[in-house]
Amino acid sequence: MRTIEHWIGGAATRAGSTRTAPVWNPATGEQQAEVLLAEPGDIDVAVTAARSAFENWSQASLSQRTRVLFAFRELVHRHARELAEVIADEHGKVVSDALGEVQRGLEVVEFACGIPHLLKGDFSDQVSTGVDVYSFREPLGVVAGITPFNFPVMVPMWMHPVAIACGNAFVLKPSERDPSASLLVASLWAEAGLPEGVFNVVHGDKAAVDALLDHPDVAAVSFVGSTPIARYIYERASANGKRVQALGGAKNHAVVLPDADLDYASDHLVAAAMGSAGERCMAISAAVAVGDGADRLVDVVAAKAAAVRVGPGRDEASEMGPVITAAARDRIAGYVDTGEKQGATVAVDGRGLVVPGHEDGFFVGPTVLDHVTPSMDVYRDEIFGPVLSVVRASDVDEAIALINANPYGNGTAIFTSSGEAARRFQRGVRVGMIGVNVPIPVPMAYYSFGGWKDSLFGQSHVHGPEGIAFYTRAKVVTARWPRVEHQVAASYHFPTA
Ligand code: NAD
Repeated sequence: MRTIEHWIGGAATRAGSTRTAPVWNPATGEQQAEVLLAEPGDIDVAVTAARSAFENWSQASLSQRTRVLFAFRELVHRHARELAEVIADEHGKVVSDALGEVQRGLEVVEFACGIPHLLKGDFSDQVSTGVDVYSFREPLGVVAGITPFNFPVMVPMWMHPVAIACGNAFVLKPSERDPSASLLVASLWAEAGLPEGVFNVVHGDKAAVDALLDHPDVAAVSFVGSTPIARYIYERASANGKRVQALGGAKNHAVVLPDADLDYASDHLVAAAMGSAGERCMAISAAVAVGDGADRLVDVVAAKAAAVRVGPGRDEASEMGPVITAAARDRIAGYVDTGEKQGATVAVDGRGLVVPGHEDGFFVGPTVLDHVTPSMDVYRDEIFGPVLSVVRASDVDEAIALINANPYGNGTAIFTSSGEAARRFQRGVRVGMIGVNVPIPVPMAYYSFGGWKDSLFGQSHVHGPEGIAFYTRAKVVTARWPRVEHQVAASYHFPTA
């Protein structure tokens, strides 16, 4: 059995770990490896290596850092297919989708390549006679990233390229369910010339996470995962005096107005609900059908959902792969059972799907539930599977009210041909990321990504300008260089001009 090790101080290592967890191949249902689970002592080794690497890396010139980032960018680009295949084998998503994930991660690396420009400070000349004021930003020290299973390359890349470009050292605790991609990324950083210890990977479970949250030398924590854990991370790390950004779960609504192009909207709804088997924080899990076209919309969506080709991620014919574990498959099927019992109509039923040749894989087929109401569990909870719940609303204002009553506020979308309705929608919803005829409105790397309400704890979104601000802190200098022959006398009153 292959053992997946940590990466500390520039090399793969077991450190002191003895516990392991299984890593499955979701398409076959077989265990393909075991991953080490770090103990607090292993976390201390990683943080100490990072702390020591920080001393030099934080002093590396912007030109030196930029050269490493450009080299890393080339290597990720060159190894994109290899990374995508590692993702497909452990996560289960189809390779084309995994390639898209790598591309979106790469865009953050490209953003971070502009670090000399991004770290420019301000300068105010002659704020008082002979006095100038200027600001610059410094890195924080050792920063940690704790990431979910669903984007094993992209979500860590929301963090580490930006943190490292800013001059920090990084300790990544990726999901223990698909840990291998992070090791490949670590080897690419090393090949790019990043000094040992600036990027470290420790695998593990709650014990590893808690040790990071409590370690006095960890200055900041970036977390992406489910809402209950995001809240916990925010509270514990903040109580320990750390800077925290903790992104949580989601229930993303797509509103379809009667004036929307039905073919376009239904294509995008189905892809956004079923792509990556619904295991995306920006997946559309609730469709809000507005007005009297709802029955027609459900008919078209159901036909398209039923036609999605489900199979192993490595098969080029597959459009949707398995879900991450057997437990996830059973949980998703359980939600559909409950939805049916609570009165929803099962328009497309993905329970019990068997993929020939992959009978033991963790597959759930595309599922569409109609006549869902806000009191049902399928509507209230994040299912994180290929299940689209259709709710109905009489007009756009009722749709906005429905979205605003939901505790999550990650993403939402509207399909319409009315600019007036789209504008009312984007101004009315209390949600962080909004799509207008775009079902999954993930901001580009040079904007910042993040939700509102229970989808984010902390003040800062990730990457883009907020990422730079999160991984640095500002100094403001007020300077006077008096001419020696005209020394300004010191005075004891507060300086005013
Ligand atoms: P998760 O919360 O179970 O795990 C995330 C990370 O936290 C993992 O590294 C895991 O090892 C660790 N963890 C799990 N339980 C813990 C505990 N009790 N104490 C300390 N650490 C713990 O999430 P997941 O199942 O890996 O990922 C799916 C979730 O992530 C979904 O809810 C999805 O919406 C969310 N997500 C959100 C975003 C976003 O941008 N808001 C992006 C991707 C995923």
